[in-house]
Amino acid sequence: MTQLSQMAASGQTTLMQSTGNPRLDLSFGMMLANMANTFAVRPGFAFYNDGNRPNALALRDSYLPNTQGTVLLGRGMLFEQARRSANGDIPLIVICAHEFGHIVQYANNCHERLNRGQKTVKRTELHADFLAGYFLGSSNAQFKIVGNSSSVVRIILPH
Ligand SMILES: [Zn+2]
Repeated sequence: MTQLSQMAASGQTTLMQSTGNPRLDLSFGMMLANMANTFAVRPGFAFYNDGNRPNALALRDSYLPNTQGTVLLGRGMLFEQARRSANGDIPLIVICAHEFGHIVQYANNCHERLNRGQKTVKRTELHADFLAGYFLGSSNAQFKIVGNSSSVVRIILPH
């Protein structure tokens, strides 16, 4: 059990289901529903206070009702990525898809198989990255240039 999951279980960490911005919440909801459908998993999703250590993580345990595992995105990570607008929404989508990839690993018992005999978690991390790439490639995401700068890209996911 990770330190955060212990904290979540004991109520020491508050899990928030809103970014505080209704429009952003709607975008997240659409993106997460798309990921859930693509990966055929139903993890709970919440934000938590990651302090000065921006992070996102996937937990095997479910902390929200009727869910399968839990994906947590630190508010620090959310706002840091939002501030770095040069790459638009892509980093946040990739981060969330990577964590969904870990939920897929847990749900299919491949987390253990990938880790077996390994000294590091490199294999499971690369596999989660692979699944995140699969999501981007399969979601028919449209990459749209916003504004005058060609470096600002927004992803419009199909509804
Ligand atoms: Zn990971």
